[in-house]
Amino acid sequence: MTLSVAAILAESALRRPEHPAVVFDSRKVTYRELWDGARRYAAALRERGIGPGDKVALLLPSTPHFPLAYFGVLALGAVAVPVHALLRADEIAYVLKDSGAAALICAAPLLAEGGKAADAVGTPVLTVMEERDTRAPRLDALAARSTPIERQVPRDPGDIAVILYTSGTTGRPKGALLTHLNVVMNVDTTMLSPFDFTADDILLGCLPLFHTFGQICGMNTCFRAGATLVLMPRFDGPRALDLMVRENCTLFMGVPTMYVALLDAARADPRRPALDRAFSGGSALPVALLDAFRETFGCPVLEGYGLTETSPVVAYNQKAWPLKPGTVGRPIWGVEVEIARADVEDRVELLSTGELGEIVIRGHNVMAGYLNRPEATAEAIVDGWFRSGDLGVKDDEGYLSVVDRKKDMVLRAGYNVYPREVEDVLARHPAIAQVAVIGLPHAVHGEEVCAVVMTHPGATPCPALGARIVAWSRERMAPYKYPRLVEFVDAFPLGPSGKVLKRELVSRLSGAER
Ligand code: ATP
Repeated sequence: MTLSVAAILAESALRRPEHPAVVFDSRKVTYRELWDGARRYAAALRERGIGPGDKVALLLPSTPHFPLAYFGVLALGAVAVPVHALLRADEIAYVLKDSGAAALICAAPLLAEGGKAADAVGTPVLTVMEERDTRAPRLDALAARSTPIERQVPRDPGDIAVILYTSGTTGRPKGALLTHLNVVMNVDTTMLSPFDFTADDILLGCLPLFHTFGQICGMNTCFRAGATLVLMPRFDGPRALDLMVRENCTLFMGVPTMYVALLDAARADPRRPALDRAFSGGSALPVALLDAFRETFGCPVLEGYGLTETSPVVAYNQKAWPLKPGTVGRPIWGVEVEIARADVEDRVELLSTGELGEIVIRGHNVMAGYLNRPEATAEAIVDGWFRSGDLGVKDDEGYLSVVDRKKDMVLRAGYNVYPREVEDVLARHPAIAQVAVIGLPHAVHGEEVCAVVMTHPGATPCPALGARIVAWSRERMAPYKYPRLVEFVDAFPLGPSGKVLKRELVSRLSGAER
């Protein structure tokens, strides 16, 4: 079988045809049905003039239509361009134009934004899940009438398989070009270790499939193992807990905000799924949260680190190794991770073990570059190393700690404050359910450290509690780093994958009267 992303599904359909690949709304889709359906989608796309190398944008929630369309596009030798389902019309139009998409496959409920975007840039639209009369042809109906393409169109390992857009914290989103080799190698290495997926595992698929974590680590790794993915289009704690119990999930994979919500749900619901292990990534997992989850759910939580540009996994803790909470484990097989001087940008100057600097990565997981952005690519890939923009340190056993993003670091009165370190301490405060530490502009110190806090249901947010948190912090942290400001929120602004959007907190609170 050729080395390609479509082969991930094709091969499992050969090995385990009658095993459920996907469960959605209690309905099971077997591997045979999913691969057959994907090849029908490929046939229908071919009838609409799509061919190898064409880019096809997908604006789809996490229902079985996502893998059908994704693997249909890939089986045809075309390039999948998943789009964040929450984007607005002009943001979608930007992605369609930048990627040069030959078509947009859009779920009917998302047509209001997707259709407007496609009209604006003249991209043909195909819909699925139609609920009402639209002008766009229905791809799922066309596919149902088509004869599946016989086999996938062969691709070279270096051909582009998917284009994943970064969230665009700095300027317009950039399209990371991931090759078949990038994706397949990341899936293969992580499936074996660190994830140790087996064919009998059942994973809750609550991470969005348009994002690298849910798509490559969740969906593709699960399919590579021939395991089962229980789809959940919108995460919420109580429903996630209920679904894991009902569907006998053995694995959970999520970002830290999801762990907080699951723990909250577990306070009201005594049922527990028989989880064997849980994976965290995407942002820092406070050690207190890891401990609480392990106690409540009785399974180890393995934290790892990755980026869209590195397909995505770079390093992970794994069950077979001594677990080092607070670290993201060791690099995966075939990937080198080093620490380089963060202040030297035009070349990579490596530092020694134990020294703090920028995390740089080299290996099969590093993207081919950014689409249409030669300058951004040259800034990101220097001397063969991908510069992550994250600060980190490696210990003498090779475990990596992500200290913070270079751009999230707070500079207070000339001292560097790493928000993650402060968050880790604050997470132990009994009233705090979740906290994000940011820097706010300050006339004297340049920036002031601010803790943005979501309290546990039992605690009442008020100025007196804020003062108590400041006093508690002062006893536990050096004078330059403890938060002197505390702001309470009911909910955090979250990015498409469920991560806290710190930049939005900064802009929201920068002008606030204090
Ligand atoms: P953008 O790159 O546009 O800002 P984004 O943050 O959503 O968007 P992703 O590729 O989803 O981009 O996330 C990669 C980033 O997530 C890393 O650079 C790192 O800062 C952070 N990250 C991932 N895993 C961890 C972790 N375990 N601990 C701390 N940070 C992490």
